[in-house]
Amino acid sequence: MFLPRVLQAATDAALQCAFPPVCFSCNMPLPSWRERICRNCLSALRVVAVTDEVYCRALHRLQSAGVLDLVVPWYFEKEGPLQTLIHQLKYGGMTRLGFDLGKGVGDLVASREEKGFDAIIPIPLHKARMRERGYNQAACIAAGVARITRWPVHPRLVRRSRFTPTQTALSFEERQENVIGAFAASRMRLWTIAGRRFLLVDDVVTTGATMGACSMALLAAGAREVVGCAIAIAE
Ligand SMILES: [Zn+2]
Repeated sequence: MFLPRVLQAATDAALQCAFPPVCFSCNMPLPSWRERICRNCLSALRVVAVTDEVYCRALHRLQSAGVLDLVVPWYFEKEGPLQTLIHQLKYGGMTRLGFDLGKGVGDLVASREEKGFDAIIPIPLHKARMRERGYNQAACIAAGVARITRWPVHPRLVRRSRFTPTQTALSFEERQENVIGAFAASRMRLWTIAGRRFLLVDDVVTTGATMGACSMALLAAGAREVVGCAIAIAE
């Protein structure tokens, strides 16, 4: 065990010299190559309170799709640190950022959900988008949540059965229309869904239409309870 640790330390030191670590959000120097976000950026993230109007509105919409609760630590603000971080996570291949931010989500879920979950499910991408991107950012976040909570991750219990165009420019009603029937529970795994409690994971909740549609597919397949979580909520 000693030698690998020495090698790891030597590799870290070499990397630190060759590529001085910088914050993924603001490019300021970081003390260690293992960190990705500086303290300034972390403390600049706006924290969600469960009494906030934006949060209550999103929760209410999700509850109408059968989602019991929504756990989300931060706000997604335009020009804020999370905008850069989530962009890097989704389009820049920085999967490790999802894991790190997912650990923050995991801390909050663990403090709020005493009952625990039978499985954590990252909201799936359609296979065409998965091919294009090479990874599912929600799965990276789910891995971070699982590291903290120790609940198992089951990415294949639900799949995206229909390709949906990007939703960025759509209203709530259009988004809802866009994702109706876009998810299907895996028929091969119905016995692992029935009567179970699931935690759905996404990157950003905007209108909640995607998370709601995914939850409905699980509940229709017999899931007992679905709770949603995400890194951030958009205003
Ligand atoms: Zn920073």
